[in-house]
Amino acid sequence: MINVQLKKGIYLPSAALWLDPKKTVPLGVVTHAHSDHAGWHRETIATPATIALMKARKTAPSRTIIHELPYFTPWERSHARITLIPAGHVLGSAQVLVETEEGSLLYTGDFKRRESLTCEEATTRKAETLIIESTFGLPRYSFPPSEQTHQRIIDFCHRTLESQENPVLLAYSLGKAQELMAILSQAGINPVIHESVAKISAVYEEHGIDLGSYTVWDKVNHEKKVLILPPNVRSSLSSLKKIRSAIISGWAVNEGAIYRYQCDEAFPLSDHADHGELIEHVEEVEAQKIYTVHGYTEEFARDLRYLGIDALALGGVNQLELLL
Ligand SMILES: [Zn+2]
Repeated sequence: MINVQLKKGIYLPSAALWLDPKKTVPLGVVTHAHSDHAGWHRETIATPATIALMKARKTAPSRTIIHELPYFTPWERSHARITLIPAGHVLGSAQVLVETEEGSLLYTGDFKRRESLTCEEATTRKAETLIIESTFGLPRYSFPPSEQTHQRIIDFCHRTLESQENPVLLAYSLGKAQELMAILSQAGINPVIHESVAKISAVYEEHGIDLGSYTVWDKVNHEKKVLILPPNVRSSLSSLKKIRSAIISGWAVNEGAIYRYQCDEAFPLSDHADHGELIEHVEEVEAQKIYTVHGYTEEFARDLRYLGIDALALGGVNQLELLL
């Protein structure tokens, strides 16, 4: 079974490979372009779309060696074979299958199994060891059907426009914003988007994703329009007279989300797996050993142990002592 260590992130000694390392390492896989996972390493492995999204945000240092690895294309290095498969999280997001003489390991990175309008649908591979994200690793995180949430968002936009107010959808500029653009486009709504969203959207379009018609916000062109803004630029909303805002996040499942995010509505559209999807993934991979990372790691690992699966939270305080 492949030895897993925590050292500047997830480290696999038998492959001399890091998975989504937090610091610069000799050889690292970046599963997707969200800033908590993406970084340039001396040798960086990622899908072509992830590389393009990373470059849109930050130029790679000149000494960086980039290995663009399309899905389902094995890459071999020092007794290890690395294959990226779709993760369904954002454009270019990948799960990592690592095979060495010690065995096989699948790392999900951030993933979801539900369909998306703007990225590749997740697939599964069997592996002896599974490292799975557990952001929403509690049973109460069960998302409603996507179509239902899409319709609620569209209704909110129409309702707000009819009352002579601007609907403002607060969503991360990479992934969630583009999904919203595609949802609105299907309903015939052409939004006004923040420039940070536009920069990422251009990469999506270069990769063949249809985001419909939209304009970039210039602070005055929002009359009778739906705005899509990242939550961190809320302060610039002062130039708008009458707005109703909505946070678009899996955390909307929590009671009181509108107070936490200081907005009028909250819609549970997520790019992560909910608890049921996490369990489905575990069942399909059929791993003998599971490590959980991110979010409710200890709770989800405990649930899996109750199901008779050998699972530990990677980075959990007690479990970490055992591992090292
Ligand atoms: Zn992510």
